[in-house]
Amino acid sequence: FLRGKTALVTGSTSGIGLGIAHSLAAAGANIVFNGFGDPDEIQAIQKTTEEKFSVKTAYHNADMSKASEIAALMAFASATFGGVDILVNNAGIQYVANIEDFPVEKWDAIIAINLTSCFHTTRLALPYMKEKNWGRIINLASVHGLVASAQKSAYVAAKHGLIGLTKTTALENAQTGITCNAICPGWVLTPLVQKQVDARAERDNISNEAAKKALLAEKQPSGEFVTPEQLGALAVFFCSDSASQIRGVAWNMDGGWAAQ
Ligand code: NAD
Repeated sequence: FLRGKTALVTGSTSGIGLGIAHSLAAAGANIVFNGFGDPDEIQAIQKTTEEKFSVKTAYHNADMSKASEIAALMAFASATFGGVDILVNNAGIQYVANIEDFPVEKWDAIIAINLTSCFHTTRLALPYMKEKNWGRIINLASVHGLVASAQKSAYVAAKHGLIGLTKTTALENAQTGITCNAICPGWVLTPLVQKQVDARAERDNISNEAAKKALLAEKQPSGEFVTPEQLGALAVFFCSDSASQIRGVAWNMDGGWAAQ
């Protein structure tokens, strides 16, 4: 049902973004990929996506911490496919330290990539969506947009902010065909989380498997990771007509994390 539509997924060379890009492509959308990585691997991702789902893809390497590169990415998407119908703000980074030890440049980078970039893509995507009177903006927040954890000040602040931006975007467009919602995952086993698993294994001198179990046991009652495929299915649902009155929500998929 998304055939002919174009989805830009920021940070889609890995993890959740890649999973969501594949789910949207499976529903027929052309994909603009973005994110860092080995050029050959990114080309392979594009080729597989095109062949498996019979869609068109493009790639732009914008650094989402830089406003000028984000503007170039949006211009590239318009030049390639006419405009962005579905915007998935997914690029994100993490850094873990107590506030008094938190490197200032890490704070700035997390706020820039995890929050400010979403303002830039949204402001640049809206005029085309308004012209079409249809659009879907999906912000990858986190359960950390709803509750905090120690040592994640910048991430928690950015994700709480992103849920605020989601609500404002939804309200400003409430009487149009453009919806904006946030997805709030708990632990998903991606490279971003694997780093935290590795740190835990080293700190406690335990195996990788034991470190995964420990992380889950602390926060995620299901004891299982959320998968990128499950998040992709939710993103596709947000794009459907059935979801057209879902506006400004922060939707958890967290194995029960925020229910505690
Ligand atoms: P990941 O590290 O696997 O992927 C991050 C993607 O963003 C990669 O494609 C990377 O190249 C890209 N990226 C990083 N910095 C960038 C920059 N400056 N410019 C452009 N692209 C950049 O991480 P992930 O776990 O898939 O996370 C994706 C999103 O989901 C993030 O916003 C993250 O905060 C959120 N999230 C993740 C989890 C989890 O448990 N993994 C939970 C909740 C929310």
